[in-house]
Amino acid sequence: MSRSFGSPGRYVQRRGEISRLGEHLADLGRQPLFLVDAFLYDRYAESLGKGLGSDFQCRFEKFGGECSDREIARVTKIASDHGADVIVGIGGGKTLDTAKMAAHRTNARMLAVPSIASTDAPTSAVVVVYTDEGVLQEAHNLPRNPDLVLVDPDVIVAAPVRFLMAGVGDALATWYEARANFDAGTLNYISGGFPATRAALAIARECHAVILEQALMAKQAAEAGVVTRAVEDIIEANTLLSGLGFENCGVSAAHGIHDALTVLPEIHGVLHGEKVIFGVLCLLVLENRPQAEIEETLRFCRSLGLPITLADLNIKEDVRAKVRRVAEAAVKGKITHATRAPVGVEEIEAAILAADALGRAA
Ligand SMILES: [Zn+2]
Repeated sequence: MSRSFGSPGRYVQRRGEISRLGEHLADLGRQPLFLVDAFLYDRYAESLGKGLGSDFQCRFEKFGGECSDREIARVTKIASDHGADVIVGIGGGKTLDTAKMAAHRTNARMLAVPSIASTDAPTSAVVVVYTDEGVLQEAHNLPRNPDLVLVDPDVIVAAPVRFLMAGVGDALATWYEARANFDAGTLNYISGGFPATRAALAIARECHAVILEQALMAKQAAEAGVVTRAVEDIIEANTLLSGLGFENCGVSAAHGIHDALTVLPEIHGVLHGEKVIFGVLCLLVLENRPQAEIEETLRFCRSLGLPITLADLNIKEDVRAKVRRVAEAAVKGKITHATRAPVGVEEIEAAILAADALGRAA
């Protein structure tokens, strides 16, 4: 049996690590372009610039807010005008994805500094491109993952806890979707697509185990504004374990339904992982998994305050018509079909409505 595995070059997670950015950067280049989330810009651009001193020729740029073709072209031009040999993305998943694509197009190295642990974008070679209006357009698989992922738990805990919990939603999908791909015999996203390695399946399983053990404790600690071992474990699960797991095992209908949900404008304020976790419930229904497993997942999500119904996702009116639209969009995506279950519009529609009913009854 063939198999493949991909990963970022390095992953470093330590409190205060952002203040040691220069040490890491020195291994990658001398002419960095920093792409920074708008609301972090004032906090980091000046202090990082000063801290790096004259060893580097830095250029700082604010991220425009959407990982769209237009924003990617803009950042790519800035990178090439600056002669950037390394791009440092500081921010959420869309900032990092834009930085990853600009680094790929300019043949620069890539350093990812996530400011939140809400998705697994920092570690992966996947870039998800949206329209300027925020509707999902396409996903690209780049030939290389970021060279370095640098995670500072103090930075992560300073962000609202909702992001950390959304990351738990995304990371909880990793094992269920890995299993769906394994059962269906579908392929991962490494080097054109291969079956998962044993290593990747073990990572996906561990991701699930860490989340069940630690997520509630991490939530409480993060709400108190402190970094505990549970918080650090959940940051690793959301970022590294989930990132390696999804890329090396594949995503499935949970992400397929997530993608389809983006056709509804009322859902644009809902975070990636919050949509994905509802998609997980739909996937479990679609695959007809045991009731005990579905109930356990529902209870767990509710304890973390994650959405388990359509109303939680802000879908409250014309529900049947909207669910139909989402189901029609979901079957067009290839990833929705990475499951052993038969997947047509009727099946997806039924799974979404049944998951919503289970969520309302939980
Ligand atoms: Zn995801």
